[in-house]
Amino acid sequence: MIAGTNGLGTETRGAAGESAARRDLAVRAAVEQGLLTEAEPVVALLDVAGVRASAAALHAAFTAVTAPGTPVLHAFAVKAAPLVPVLRLLRDAGIGAEVASPGELGLARAAGLLPDRTVLDSPAKTPAELREALALGIAVNADNPQELARLDALLAAAPSRSPIGLRVNPQTGSGSIGALSTATATSKFGVALRDEGARARVVRAYLDRPWLTRLHTHSGSQGVPLALMAEGVRTVYELAEEINAAAGRHQVDTVDIGGGLPVNFSSDDETPTHAEYARLLKETVPGLFDGRYGLVTEFGRSLLAKHGTVLARVEYTKSAGGRPIAVTHAGVQIATRTVYDPESWPLRIAAYDAGGRPRTGPDLTQDIAGPACFTGDMLATGRALPALEAGDLVAALDTGAYYFANHYAYNSLARPGVHGFTVTGSTGSTGTAGTAGSTGTAGSTGSTGLPGDGRVRFAAVRPPQTVAEIVAEAGGGDPDALVRN
Ligand SMILES: *Cc1c(COP(=O)(O)O)cnc(C)c1O
Repeated sequence: MIAGTNGLGTETRGAAGESAARRDLAVRAAVEQGLLTEAEPVVALLDVAGVRASAAALHAAFTAVTAPGTPVLHAFAVKAAPLVPVLRLLRDAGIGAEVASPGELGLARAAGLLPDRTVLDSPAKTPAELREALALGIAVNADNPQELARLDALLAAAPSRSPIGLRVNPQTGSGSIGALSTATATSKFGVALRDEGARARVVRAYLDRPWLTRLHTHSGSQGVPLALMAEGVRTVYELAEEINAAAGRHQVDTVDIGGGLPVNFSSDDETPTHAEYARLLKETVPGLFDGRYGLVTEFGRSLLAKHGTVLARVEYTKSAGGRPIAVTHAGVQIATRTVYDPESWPLRIAAYDAGGRPRTGPDLTQDIAGPACFTGDMLATGRALPALEAGDLVAALDTGAYYFANHYAYNSLARPGVHGFTVTGSTGSTGTAGTAGSTGTAGSTGSTGLPGDGRVRFAAVRPPQTVAEIVAEAGGGDPDALVRN
């Protein structure tokens, strides 16, 4: 059950150990099946069984705490992995979509998400976006009073099936990452509930608008403690009760609690779990779970992060000022947050040899650099890993959400290809061995501890960007645009 130390330091068992073992098999198979080439020295891998397991765990977590028959929609925050086959995989696993732009709505629709499984949440919706959402009948959460006024006009012009809510900011406070904290006093999202007179104005807005039937908050994110998130949900529940008492009817029938469950970026363990959060919510806000309210959730990072791996070739190794440096092909274009804010977003790095086997050996403190032309382009600095050599591979772990899915085009570095992988015989796999495209045998039962034959089948999720595409997207179709008379 030990998947090689490859610089990770600890051995992991149970579900986390299986996920690590699947990852090692996939890395080996990626090399053996030729996914990494000179033209494509960095690829992204997504563990399909892991995604399915997280979706199932999310369903189970809320089923365990809600009254039987409670409508619960888990809408995946599309910005965390804006890839159509991923949205389709999640749809298959009973997960809807939370969208915040015309692009994200387009992706959700392309993945076949139906209107009643889709929620629109942007803070800057145009009249055209609102009109489209209302025509489709997808749920809309308004952000502010001006948007409510727009909705008044649109609904007067054409009735809609869309359930409509208002986003509120419970102003419960900041987490450890300022740029991601949505529930601070001055956050740009929603109606700031503790501002002078705001609460009364919100209640009035509901009494004036019988079609406002939902309340929305998204007060968590990486770095926010669970207890603070639960306090945000309690605030919104209490507001729903106040509105319903004032209306004398069950006007608010659904509470959208947002997403924001933090992810553990320091080991393979998935902590905290959706189940822990659901239990804490039920403890903190029991009335929300007694069957009177439908629920919507909008988790992104916690569903996908642990299941993604970026695999990059080490092009050169060198040394500067006594520090060994491995220059790789994964940097700011993929790990943008980590590169610009390494303290808040450290990533685990695993080392593999050129054949894709976990690299073992004494740890050496080294820097793992990216390919971009600025000094800060580092995946990790001063990291203890087995000594890397040119041609080796490094894997940036837990990158399934917000990393390779959200490319940053610095230095015109190409968007890497994304490949889903399935290990036959392992947890969650339904495939059979020996089908076309599953020719890579990447390890044996004995070395991985996984049941089954350990074959890895890849499916292309997103093709790598080509140089021709980079040129075309950079105005290459009309080079004379600025010099024509
Ligand atoms: C980003 C976002 C989410 C998802 O957040 P995660 O931290 O990825 O779970 C959910 N709802 C809204 C409104 C968001 O902006």
